[in-house]
Amino acid sequence: MSSSRISIRKEQRPPKLIDEEGRRVDGRRPDELRPVKIEVGVLKNADGSAYIELGRNKIIAAVYGPKELHPKHLALPDRAVLYCRYHMVPFSVTERKSPAPSRREIELSKVIREALEPALFLEYFPRTEIDLFIEVLQADGGTRTAGITAASVALADAGIPMRDLVAAIAVGKVEGQIVLDLCDIEDKYGEGDMPVAMMPSLGQITLLQADGVYTPEEVKKALELAKKGIMKIYEVQREALKKKYIELKKEVEEEYGKK
Ligand code: ADP
Repeated sequence: MSSSRISIRKEQRPPKLIDEEGRRVDGRRPDELRPVKIEVGVLKNADGSAYIELGRNKIIAAVYGPKELHPKHLALPDRAVLYCRYHMVPFSVTERKSPAPSRREIELSKVIREALEPALFLEYFPRTEIDLFIEVLQADGGTRTAGITAASVALADAGIPMRDLVAAIAVGKVEGQIVLDLCDIEDKYGEGDMPVAMMPSLGQITLLQADGVYTPEEVKKALELAKKGIMKIYEVQREALKKKYIELKKEVEEEYGKK
């Protein structure tokens, strides 16, 4: 997707990304998501946090704020500034990655911020800052979209007022077929990927990127497939948030019961 992508020579291509039975490299059907798990409030020290596993991806998102912005001259008079940092830790990929922010990470930080901003009532908090940190602990394709999914849950956990959650997934083209949720091998050896983020209840797209060449019919099919995946992820986000508040309610009741 980004310009920093590792180049792949033709002779390195694996023989088959989709077998005769229509199964992908990890056994999935073209319209199947990888297993997804979301946990809320995993960090005590942040105002909001979430952890996501999407297949082999492991990503943590943390939110601080709204808080006073430094230096003050960067403050906006009519809304909060959303600061976003997407980062891959050195052990997130098979060959140690430099911990210094790469061009790709700087670009993805901006892309992720722009995908989340439409969902936030930033105008409620003028002259403040909301900090969002996304740490990729293990990467396997689709980290920007999984990062967005976790970040929106972390923002909700921090109590930031939102129009809707933002759920995201990548679709793409592999051996001429439109497939949902590309893993790293499909991302690298396939014909293209298309990360999509949406506010699912409002039905509004907040991120749409694409590499590769698609016919208009393929774009339509890819967006329909992305929407299907996003609705499933949205359900997991909501369940994770509900679970945290049910547990919190139990804790408060137990505490109250003691007194
Ligand atoms: P996304 O993770 O959103 O799909 P890219 O398309 O840029 O973003 O990256 C695809 C995948 O390539 C990543 O999920 C990760 O598995 C792998 N990758 C990215 N950067 C590196 C790197 N520096 N070293 C090894 N693998 C990487």
